[in-house]
Amino acid sequence: MPICGNLTGKEGLNTDNEMKFKSFAISKAKADAAADIDLINQYAMKTLAPEDVFCFSVVLSNNDVDRDMECLSDKSLDELAEMLTGKTGIMDHINRAHNQVARLYRVEVETPGGMNRLGKTLRQLRGSAYMLRTEENKALIASIEGGITKEVSISFQVKRVACSICDKDLKFDWRTYTCRCENDHVKGSEYDGKLCAGVLDDVTDAYEFSFVAVPANKGAGVAKGFNPGTSVHKAFLQMSMEQLSEFPEANEAVIKHLQMANTSADERAKRAAIRKFAEENL
Ligand SMILES: [Zn+2]
Repeated sequence: MPICGNLTGKEGLNTDNEMKFKSFAISKAKADAAADIDLINQYAMKTLAPEDVFCFSVVLSNNDVDRDMECLSDKSLDELAEMLTGKTGIMDHINRAHNQVARLYRVEVETPGGMNRLGKTLRQLRGSAYMLRTEENKALIASIEGGITKEVSISFQVKRVACSICDKDLKFDWRTYTCRCENDHVKGSEYDGKLCAGVLDDVTDAYEFSFVAVPANKGAGVAKGFNPGTSVHKAFLQMSMEQLSEFPEANEAVIKHLQMANTSADERAKRAAIRKFAEENL
């Protein structure tokens, strides 16, 4: 579904900020544990030696247009570099204490050469992360070293998605299932040879990076699929009462569905049992 993004805050639906997940690759370039041990020790309670840690380098993001037709503004990249430094690395975006397996000890913006799709100098976020060489981490370290685990994604919130043509806000239009600005530029379309992309601007928070257990060929933005519901809710909230009132029967069905979703699993099971009994016996 062509959506503008996942529209939730950590505490639930947040209509001001948009939650973003972007996937990138662990790079072959190695981070040097011996050279970086002082940086790493800023985060450790006990003094770690280079042989205690496994370091790797990862491209966390860049300012090019991705397959969601979105890119980070230069300002967002700089903000993300600062916010992601010191953040933990987790598995599959599930943030539990036992699931925190790595930490970013350095994040820098670099210019690898070339231009992005909008004709601007390509810039990317390079992160260096460390893991402890413990028994528990052995399998993951081997998997990273062997090139099996090679995708990570970052999650962050942005205040707005701007049209790359006119800088007005891009908003999801439920009627056409497109993202468009008030000047009717549609995200992903071209105007006089210029692409309309969603420029992610004003990063408000960056949470963590995550190793993603998904096939690499699905590529960027695949982690978005983990939160499809929030976009649907946001789409409803963007519709006016007049628009919604055209569909009274559908509204009733949705209300019932949502009420059921907000009851406990126990309650749902009880109701299902009553319904089944009624169907079989009445
Ligand atoms: Zn526009």
